[in-house]
Amino acid sequence: MTADPGEGPHMRHVLGAYVLDALTAGETRTVSCHLQSCDRCAADYVEAAEAVSLLALLCEEDLLE
Ligand SMILES: [Zn+2]
Repeated sequence: MTADPGEGPHMRHVLGAYVLDALTAGETRTVSCHLQSCDRCAADYVEAAEAVSLLALLCEEDLLE
């Protein structure tokens, strides 16, 4: 038997909330465990984190106007 993270439930749908720290402690632990074993979701997490930081930058600029 081989462990294939591709067969398990992926975390894409909660990555946005994970980046925003909007999950419960238990959910956060589940997601972070999954990210350590799943390259696909880890890559999606990086994308989501970048998108959120870009949004934060945009919002900051909007607030300065
Ligand atoms: Zn995954």
